[in-house]
Amino acid sequence: MPVEPPVVSARTLPEAYELLAADALTPIAGGTDLMVRITGEIGEPPERLLDIGHLDALRGIGLTPGGHALSIGALATWTRIRHDPLARLHLGALAEAAATIGAAQIQNRGTLGGNVVNASPAGDSLPVLLAADSVFVLGSRPGERRVAAVDFWTGYRQTARRADELLLRAEVPLVDGRRVCFRKVGTRRAQAISKVVLAVAWRTAGDDPTWRDVRVAMGSIAAVPVRIPSVETLLEGSVPDGGLASRAGDALREAIAPIDDVRSTADHRRLVSGRILRRLIEDAV
Ligand SMILES: Cc1cc2nc3c(=O)[nH]c(=O)nc-3n(C[C@H](O)[C@H](O)[C@H](O)COP(=O)(O)OP(=O)(O)OC[C@H]3O[C@@H](n4cnc5c(N)ncnc54)[C@H](O)[C@@H]3O)c2cc1C
Repeated sequence: MPVEPPVVSARTLPEAYELLAADALTPIAGGTDLMVRITGEIGEPPERLLDIGHLDALRGIGLTPGGHALSIGALATWTRIRHDPLARLHLGALAEAAATIGAAQIQNRGTLGGNVVNASPAGDSLPVLLAADSVFVLGSRPGERRVAAVDFWTGYRQTARRADELLLRAEVPLVDGRRVCFRKVGTRRAQAISKVVLAVAWRTAGDDPTWRDVRVAMGSIAAVPVRIPSVETLLEGSVPDGGLASRAGDALREAIAPIDDVRSTADHRRLVSGRILRRLIEDAV
């Protein structure tokens, strides 16, 4: 049964914080996830909404003061991220992920903040943000706090965000010599919810091709986006070649216990996960 929850709107951040502190409100940004819930067909529909779409403080993409991190406002849309020069320069993998999210209509409305807080295990940006050691900045009436991506998704569609908080932005540390790569497997090349999402980050120093600070992050295989420590350890301190790419793919298949669901079987997820990691490493070297 479709519902039409009442909507209140905030023009400023302090106003939004007051409203969230006073009442049980569900923030609505682009609405591309929430509108599906409003029909009542998937889970409990929200009772009252807080429209945050006018909060310009949540919109920008830039460098943090001091230039140590890329700051992406929670209201940045996928279209904006796809085309933003700073996002493309410092986290091209996120721009690549943005290009795979829904079609143009979804990319024009859907936001980074909505993807992160919605916390679907299939959310395409989540493994990229996790692999890049991102930090989420949350704001509420008492002030701001920072939560590392690795601590943010606490269970199936659960996050560390309190009900009175807004996600303000994601901060992605800028690291010399770092690369972040993204792969997604869906039923087809476009407009497909992921069966498997993979993001791999590593750093090299100068002419030395040794991989350091390796992060292997995956989505759609468990209740939350996860890192794969055994594969990170295998790749850490190595100079990957075809043989190591192949061993890493095998190790990933061993390490994961994917879910069976309507989109894919666990066996298929395991098989393609190993294959896309192998190819990602082969392409990188
Ligand atoms: C047809 C279709 C195709 C899609 N394809 C993909 C896809 O390929 N890949 C993918 O990852 N996703 C996909 N999605 C899901 C969705 O588009 C994305 O998750 C999108 O980024 C959600 O952003 P939004 O602004 O629309 O979120 P909303 O629907 O507005 O909000 C989602 C959730 O986040 C909360 N929220 C939003 N912003 C904030 C904030 N700043 N602070 C606190 N809480 C907040 C809301 O309360 C809500 O719980 C698809 C959706 C549709 C309908």
